[in-house]
Amino acid sequence: MTLESLSQSTPITLIKPETEVVQKTDLLGMDREAMQAYFTEIGEKPFRATQVMKWIHQFGVSDFDEMTNLSKALRDKLKQVANVRTPKIVAEEHSDDGTIKWLLEVDNNNAIEVVFIPEKNRGTLCISSQVGCALECTFCSTGQQGFNRNLENWEIIAQVWVANKALGCKPKEERIISNVVFMGMGEPLLNVKHVFPVARILMDDYAYGLSKRRVTISTSGVVPAIDMIKSELDVSLAISLHAPNDELRDILVPVNKKYPLAVLMPSLYRYVEGGHSKKHVTIEYVMLDKVNDHLEHAHQLVELLGDLPCKVNLIPFNPFPNTEYQRSSNNAIHRFRAILEEGGLQVTVRKTRGDDIDAACGQLAGKVSDRTKRTLHRVEFDTK
Ligand code: SF4
Repeated sequence: MTLESLSQSTPITLIKPETEVVQKTDLLGMDREAMQAYFTEIGEKPFRATQVMKWIHQFGVSDFDEMTNLSKALRDKLKQVANVRTPKIVAEEHSDDGTIKWLLEVDNNNAIEVVFIPEKNRGTLCISSQVGCALECTFCSTGQQGFNRNLENWEIIAQVWVANKALGCKPKEERIISNVVFMGMGEPLLNVKHVFPVARILMDDYAYGLSKRRVTISTSGVVPAIDMIKSELDVSLAISLHAPNDELRDILVPVNKKYPLAVLMPSLYRYVEGGHSKKHVTIEYVMLDKVNDHLEHAHQLVELLGDLPCKVNLIPFNPFPNTEYQRSSNNAIHRFRAILEEGGLQVTVRKTRGDDIDAACGQLAGKVSDRTKRTLHRVEFDTK
């Protein structure tokens, strides 16, 4: 099965009491190819797909009656056979620093969070790809909660749709959401069949129109799917590295046992190979006090990254309840950074944001309001 054929959302079955069963197809999670195929399938011209995509994603419209450039007959038909399913906002929190967090209910048992982080020259939306995560990174609150399920197309793009609407984004006005990062809950590259179509919607001019530099998939290092990004998607890539050697990375990021550094690093070179001159990998490195912040770790990191075109992002750890780790001191971060820079690396230190609403991307304690009993699933490495 190709990724394209998987991009169509699962139809919802609505049961009308004692009469007929109506199958409605959800349009929110369809990329352009899937949407055009759908309109052809229902006997309409494919260009209707782009009209409807604009209404849904650019104007935030979910009611077909408001899609005024469609004929009345088509609107009535769509009301019969399709819908634009959107999640309910169950909570909204605002941080003193402008960060906003929404809690979205995606089914009767699960809610997911989406976080907007405004900065001087951009606004970043951090979205989730799974409910929970199976990879059990030891410094990550999500990893400690276990895995529940993959999010579907509509549930992932709905995070952008809801934020866009809540922030009052309008087409042709300056972008409020300028960047989208798959750095929330879950490992996006273990859910490529839903994440890839969503990335295409984000970059589609009939939807959000973001450039590939402004859509970032962050992975702990699922190597086969890194190669799929290169061949099928072409978005920006961030690696949750967090350790400069296998011994430490096996502990912090256990997927390293499956794809150790000797396998991961060549995949990063393959990703940048043949790209434009500014193509690079973002290396994320969470700073854990006396765990991975020793000076020798910094030297090892310089050696490991070698001449890979990359930018290193040092992330002060955001502690969560019952964690064994502490945030590195400012001095330790400063010294670590200095060694990386002496080694020729470009380094930034991420500002902690939204601490008062517990909203740091990728480490959201209690990021999911999960009312089901989760289990720790074994790690699945099948990326299809
Ligand atoms: S850091 Fe990412 S991959 Fe690791 S457990 Fe957390 S969500 Fe999963």
